[in-house]
Amino acid sequence: VSPLPHRGAGRPKARCQLSGSGMDTPSPLPTLIRKKRDGERLEDAEIRSFARGVTEGTAQQGQIGAMLMAIRLRGMDAGETLALTQAMASSGRTLAWPPAWHGLLVDKHSTGGVGDKVSLALAPALAACGCKVPMISGRGLGHTGGTLDKLEAIPGFRVSQSPEEMQHILARVGCCIVGQSSELVPADRVLYGLRDVTATVDSPPLITASILSKKAAERLSALVLDVKFGGAALYPSQESARELAHSLVEVGTQLGIRTAALLTRMEQPLGRAVGNALEVLEALECLEGGGPPDLRHLVTALG
Ligand code: URA
Repeated sequence: VSPLPHRGAGRPKARCQLSGSGMDTPSPLPTLIRKKRDGERLEDAEIRSFARGVTEGTAQQGQIGAMLMAIRLRGMDAGETLALTQAMASSGRTLAWPPAWHGLLVDKHSTGGVGDKVSLALAPALAACGCKVPMISGRGLGHTGGTLDKLEAIPGFRVSQSPEEMQHILARVGCCIVGQSSELVPADRVLYGLRDVTATVDSPPLITASILSKKAAERLSALVLDVKFGGAALYPSQESARELAHSLVEVGTQLGIRTAALLTRMEQPLGRAVGNALEVLEALECLEGGGPPDLRHLVTALG
């Protein structure tokens, strides 16, 4: 695991960020919020400036919420989405792995749904096949459940692990599921929590940057995405989910990760169990060869 320090460490708190020419350009956050509010495109340096304000705590919560809403309403083009993803990915440490693991580092991420406990079964199943799965996951978002919340239903389970601890766990058991932290994608930790309370969850660029910033920090070889649609998912229609899947695959590929997406229907909860502890039990049944057929089918299809 790379001992690279946190990107912002040791630097003075600043409200500006590098321009394309490498010079510091003052770009006060209210100006950037106004730009996006009025439907203008943000430059890469402006997006990095925003992400840095989020990570270093110089941006106020109200400013972050306003920017999130401006992005939710005005959208971002593919270039802006890639820049936001990269800025968030490099807000913390980037993981690095032993050369012997080259080509084995894989992961899966879902856009979220009700009763979706696939990661709990799929990560250890992939590990049993010889893969290394350094999964950085999230908590509940909107009405969808969070893998970290589910794991914390296991008494004593700790979802906060340092990069060194992650490498140790991967060497021993082949997979780990951890949360964002002050070391790992800290920008996503802040934005994720604020999106949840500002009605800005269902935004393709924000979902893309949130998911792929975590995956870029993991330094993966390959990634499969479960993009859900239907009444129990973030997006009700297959068409909107398809657009999101295209954005995810395009940005993932530009990040150098072999990325594929499955569009999966979610008109009803996955499996039979909904609720953190119950979902853990159902995932264990699945790992033992039982569990509901829809869950087993999705775990094997994504695997
Ligand atoms: N999972 C994430 O990590 N982020 C999102 O925005 C949605 C699902």
